[in-house]
Amino acid sequence: MALGDILVDVQAVAKHFGEGETRVDALRSVDLQVRAGEVIALLGPSGSGKTTLLNIIGCILEPSAGRVSLDGDVVFDKTWLRTDLRRLRLDKIGFIFQSHNLLPFLTAIENVSLVLDLAGWPQSEALKRAKDLLDYLEVGHRAKVKPALLSGGEAQRVAIARALANRPRIILADEPTAALDSVRAQLVMDLLRKLAVEQEACIITVTHDEKIFNRFDRLINLRDGRLADSQAIKVRMSNQWEIVPSCVSIRTELK
Ligand code: ADP
Ligand code: MG
Repeated sequence: MALGDILVDVQAVAKHFGEGETRVDALRSVDLQVRAGEVIALLGPSGSGKTTLLNIIGCILEPSAGRVSLDGDVVFDKTWLRTDLRRLRLDKIGFIFQSHNLLPFLTAIENVSLVLDLAGWPQSEALKRAKDLLDYLEVGHRAKVKPALLSGGEAQRVAIARALANRPRIILADEPTAALDSVRAQLVMDLLRKLAVEQEACIITVTHDEKIFNRFDRLINLRDGRLADSQAIKVRMSNQWEIVPSCVSIRTELK
């Protein structure tokens, strides 16, 4: 696996909730490929299916139909092909939520190392990895502090450290910059891009935040459970946004 390889491959994925009169079609045959090194945004009005798609890619929600491959492995094809979804999530996926969801009774470093404890790391190694990540995210000096005493930007960086602790290659973020000011929001996105390249990971972000649109390689629009504009997406080419069909391969200039 290297930069440019397809990490997330979603084919004809559909999801409905309920049956009969109460049936809601949250996703209707969505196709999406995301490559290592890419940072993409999922856009669309409330209720268009963004969170549903993110949760399906994160293996925390079962699709109703279609096929999902992660990191070269088919994980869902009409049914889950893996019995241990928890392990799959721990190994491959990092989730960054809208609010940071840090555990209030643990310090910053404990919030990060907890994930590694769960994954079976020896405690001393887990703490070292957690400290290194906090340092990398420039919140190492706040390692022993509990979330209530962190600023919004610090808490979100701790949450990012937690999402990255296990070196996931698929990083999913639901409105990660919603609580941040414009400068902090751009810094977080720059950091995620750096990680995407260094760790050969991809970042899929749900956002409404126009001030960070220039930080994405692709903007993907969902409308009523489908990729909008007959699957057109916006791609950044020489810093201009162009509408291209989603099948066109993107970003050849990965650094
Ligand atoms: P978005 O994140 O774009 O706002 P969602 O993916 O959360 O949209 O929701 C898409 C549609 O699916 C909405 O109509 C929503 O009400 C419905 N939906 C989402 N989750 C559930 C659920 N657990 N049960 C029933 N309907 C749901
Ligand atoms: Mg949502």
